[in-house]
Amino acid sequence: MTNFRADLHCHTTCSDGTVTPKEIISLAVQSGLSGLSITDHDTIEAYQTATRYAQEKGIELIPGVEFSTSHAGESVHILGYAFSLKSDAIHALCAKHKERRIQRYRAILDKLAQHKMPISEGELLSLHPQGSIGRPHIALVMMQKGYVTSVDQAFKKFLGEGRSCYTKGYAFPVEETIDVIHAGGGLAVIAHPHLIRNGSITRDLLKMPFDGIEGYYAKFPPSEEKKWIAIGNEKGWLVTGGSDFHGTVKPHLPLGCSWVGEDTFQLLREHYAKVS
Ligand code: AMP
Ligand code: ZN
Ligand code: FE
Ligand code: FE
Repeated sequence: MTNFRADLHCHTTCSDGTVTPKEIISLAVQSGLSGLSITDHDTIEAYQTATRYAQEKGIELIPGVEFSTSHAGESVHILGYAFSLKSDAIHALCAKHKERRIQRYRAILDKLAQHKMPISEGELLSLHPQGSIGRPHIALVMMQKGYVTSVDQAFKKFLGEGRSCYTKGYAFPVEETIDVIHAGGGLAVIAHPHLIRNGSITRDLLKMPFDGIEGYYAKFPPSEEKKWIAIGNEKGWLVTGGSDFHGTVKPHLPLGCSWVGEDTFQLLREHYAKVS
C-alpha cells in the first residue's frame, strides 16, 4: 500500500493564484503530496521555474494547463496534461489567450468606468505585471478601491457571467482546444463537469474526443462525484482530480483537498515519458 497522493488542479501567480510556482511546490511537500500538476489558466509559464524546483524538492510534476473555451455560448474549462512543454501548438494557443485577456480586461475596465468604478490599466497591472489578467485580479482592485467589500461580492454584483460588467471576450471552441492539446502530445480532460449547469452542453462534451474527465474536484462530496467517475470509467477515460487551489482568493480550498492516487498518476507518467 502506498499513500501516494497527487493534486492535478491548482493555480499560481502566473494566472490568478496567490502563491508563486516555487511556493506551490513547497506547499505540496508540506501537504504530504507526492505528485502535482500546476494548471494555470491559459498559461504554462509556471513550468519555467517549477520544473527544476520540483525535482529539488522531490515532487513529481506533470505538465498541465487549464484552457478557457466556449461551447454554445457558455464558458467551458478544459484541462491539458502531460503535453510537451516545448510544443509550438500549446505555446501559440497560450499567446492567443494572453492577447484575448488584454482585450477583455480593457473592455471590463470600460464597463466599470461607465458604472462609476474607474480603475486605470496601470492600477490593474501594478498588481499583476505579467499581464495574464483574470477577473479575480480586477475584483481585488475593486476591493482595494472600496467599490466592493469582497472578491465574491465583485463577482456576484459585477463580474460574474451575466452581470453588468461581465465581458466574455473572444472564445476559443472546445474542439480546437482539444486538437491543440493533442498536437502537443497531451491528454484533454473535461474540467469540473460538476459546475456545468446546462445538460445539453455536458452531453455535447461527452461526445467529443476527450481523454479524461475530472471526477474528483475541490470539496465536492463523493455523492456528487460518483456520476462523473462512473461516466469516465464507462468511457475508458482517465478520471482525474484536484483541489482547484488558488491560495488566499479561495481560502476554502486548500492544496490537496482533492487528489488522485498512484494508479491514475502512473497513466500520466507513462504518457509523459512518451512525449518528453
Ligand atoms: P477568468 O479566467 O478571468 O474568466 O476568471 C475565472 C476565475 O474567476 C476562475 O478561477 C474562477 O474560479 C474565479 N471566480 C469565479 N467566481 C468567483 C468568485 N465568486 N469568487 C472568486 N473567484 C471567482
Ligand atoms: Zn482561477
Ligand atoms: Fe476552472
Ligand atoms: Fe481551475
